[in-house]
Amino acid sequence: MAAITAAENAEVTIIEKMSKVGKKMLITGKGRCNLTNATTNSEIIKNIPGNGKFLHSVLSAFSSENVMEFFENLGVPLKIERGRRVFPVSDKAQDVVDALKNKLLDMGVKMMFETSATEILTENDKAVGVLTKHNEKILSDATILTTGGASYPTTGSSGDGYKIAKKLGHSVIDIFPALVPLETEEEWVKDLTGLSLKNVNVTLYIEGKKQAESFGEMMFTHFGITGPIILTISRAASKALSENKFVEIFIDLKPALNEETLDKRIIRDFEKYKAKIAKNALSDLLPQKLITPVLDIAYIDENKIVRDITKKERARLIQALKRLSLTVTKTRPLSEAIVTAGGVSTKEINPKTMESKIIKDLYFAGEVIDIDGFTGGFNLQAAFSTGYAAGFYASNE
Ligand SMILES: Cc1cc2nc3c(=O)[nH]c(=O)nc-3n(C[C@H](O)[C@H](O)[C@H](O)COP(=O)(O)OP(=O)(O)OC[C@H]3O[C@@H](n4cnc5c(N)ncnc54)[C@H](O)[C@@H]3O)c2cc1C
Repeated sequence: MAAITAAENAEVTIIEKMSKVGKKMLITGKGRCNLTNATTNSEIIKNIPGNGKFLHSVLSAFSSENVMEFFENLGVPLKIERGRRVFPVSDKAQDVVDALKNKLLDMGVKMMFETSATEILTENDKAVGVLTKHNEKILSDATILTTGGASYPTTGSSGDGYKIAKKLGHSVIDIFPALVPLETEEEWVKDLTGLSLKNVNVTLYIEGKKQAESFGEMMFTHFGITGPIILTISRAASKALSENKFVEIFIDLKPALNEETLDKRIIRDFEKYKAKIAKNALSDLLPQKLITPVLDIAYIDENKIVRDITKKERARLIQALKRLSLTVTKTRPLSEAIVTAGGVSTKEINPKTMESKIIKDLYFAGEVIDIDGFTGGFNLQAAFSTGYAAGFYASNE
C-alpha cells in the first residue's frame, strides 16, 4: 500500500527478503484475508488495544471505506460478514495479493526479491538509502520501513526492522505475542484436544482481578486453549505473564442461564435420568468429552446413581459449569502469534505523516510500529492506513 501510494508521485523500489510479495497476507483470515472491518474510525481505534489512538489521523486520511473502495477498484469484489469483517467475495486471500501485485506492476514499481535490507543509510540524520545483505547500497530520496513484526517468521517477518530502527536511535518497545493461543496447567485439558465450544463466555483474571471477558467460540488443544475468544483476551494474558503475574481463566459453559435457572435445568435432567449414573446423565447439557472433567472438578463420582446426588454436589456442579477454571502458564511462542505487540515507539513517529522524528526522510508503516489490534481486520487496516500515509508523504515532501 505504501509503494502503490508513493508510486503516484515517485519512482519506487520494493526491497523484499522473500522470493515473492505478500506471503503473510496469503495466510490471513485462514486463507480468506479479512482485509478490514466495515466500521467507523472510532470503532477501529477501540479495537486496537496497542496504541489505536495513534492512528486517528491516518484513519481519517484512509479509512476502512477507502480500503474497500481501493480493492473494489482493483477488481476485487468484497463482502461483509458477521462482526462487520470484510473479505473478498471469492474467499481467496490470493486474489487480494494478486490485485496488489498487479497494481505494483502497472505502476512500474521495481521489485527486488530475495534481497534482505540490513541497514538504513543516513547522512546528517537524514535517510539516504538502504544497505542490503549483499552490501549493495540502494540510494533514495525517502525510505519506508515496513518489515512487519516478529510473528510467523517463515513469511518473512522475523523482526529485522526492530534492529534496523534501533541502530538509528529509535526506541523499540519490548515485543510480546498478542493474539496468541494460551498454554494451561490442567492435565484434563489434553483429553479434550479438538473439542470446540460455541457460545461460551471466558473471563480473564490477573492476580485475582477481572481484566477481560469475551463471548463466542473457543477450542481445546494438546497444549491448552485457542479460538477467537481466547485470542481476544490473550493480549492481556500475555502482558501479565511477561510480568510474572498469576493468570487464570474462568469458562462459563452456560452463559445464557443464571445459577438458579441452571439448577432447575439440572434438576429436570436428573429427574429424567434418575436411575442412570452421573456420567450418563449430562449429555443433554454438555459435550461428551467434557462430562468426566466437569464431574471430577465438582467432586462427583461419575459412577454415582443420579438419584443419590446431593444438593451440595449439585451446587458444586453448577460452580464447575459456570466457573470452570484454568491456570494459564504461558502463551504459545511469538512465532505462533497472529500479531506482535510492541515495536518502534509511536512517540518517535509523526502520527500524520509516519515520518521518523529522529531521522528525516525515514518513514514507518505496518506492524513494525508499536501497534496491535484484535482480530476482525483491524491489523491489516492499521497497516493499510499507515502505509497510505507513509507512501503519500514520503513521495510528496
Ligand atoms: C496466521 C495469521 C492470520 C492473520 N489474519 C489476519 C486477518 O485476517 N486480518 C488482519 O487484519 N490481520 C491478520 N493478520 C495480521 C496481519 O497479517 C499483519 O498485521 C500484517 O500482515 C502486517 O503487515 P506488514 O506489511 O506490516 O507486515 P508483513 O505482512 O509481515 O510484511 C512484512 C514484509 O517485510 C519483509 N521483510 C522483513 N524483513 C525484511 C528485510 N530485512 N529486508 C527485506 N524485506 C523484509 C517480509 O518478507 C514481508 O514481506 C494475520 C496474521 C497471521 C500470522
